[in-house]
Amino acid sequence: MKAVLASNNKHKLIEIKMMLKGKFEDIYTLKDMGIDIEIEENGTTFEENSYIKASTIAKLTGMPAIGDDSGICVEALDGEPNIYSARYAGEPCNDDNNNKKLLDKLHALEQKTGKKNRKAYFQSVVVLCYPDMTYLCGTGKTYGQIIDEYRGTNGFGYDPIFLSDELDKTFGEATMEEKNTISHRSRALKDLLEKIGTVAPHLPQFKLK
Ligand code: IMP
Repeated sequence: MKAVLASNNKHKLIEIKMMLKGKFEDIYTLKDMGIDIEIEENGTTFEENSYIKASTIAKLTGMPAIGDDSGICVEALDGEPNIYSARYAGEPCNDDNNNKKLLDKLHALEQKTGKKNRKAYFQSVVVLCYPDMTYLCGTGKTYGQIIDEYRGTNGFGYDPIFLSDELDKTFGEATMEEKNTISHRSRALKDLLEKIGTVAPHLPQFKLK
């Protein structure tokens, strides 16, 4: 099967392409297809946003499309920033400002309550949408702690302040191969690939719209 990746995020594209190598006949990016589009993510869940991205591109190209929506959820902040992770500190999306806002909010809360809880997880939902708008969905999570200092320069987004419970280093310090063994996105893709293997493409488990 050939598929298009419905994302413009360079880091995500590299990670997803690396994980899907050999699983699809060909994986195209929007750039490969000559598509320059900003898709409005107006869903209220990771799943809705992922479906919006994948279905828009499947409709546009007539090919199966893979969308990913992901973010970080911080326990002490009632799950914030969640689906707003990319634009947490406002538009345009800026990783440094997002990390700073997250740490500032945690510090303010800790000063107020005298309690410190740094538990967090990344979540990813990937959707493979077929041109007839039926789709399959995979989900994945990975757990860790938010730390105060920025460690490592690999990756993107919240990677330098996310200390992975499983790797015992931040995602910013981990190589892409290490991150991909346990990341939310790799788990979501694995979940999706298992479903492609077991569920007939034209018998989707659910349909949003
Ligand atoms: P999306 O492109 O709308 O799904 O936004 C995802 C946002 O969540 C990114 O801009 C990052 O801020 C954050 N995020 C998602 N996955 C990761 C990751 O693997 N590392 C660091 N930040 C991530």
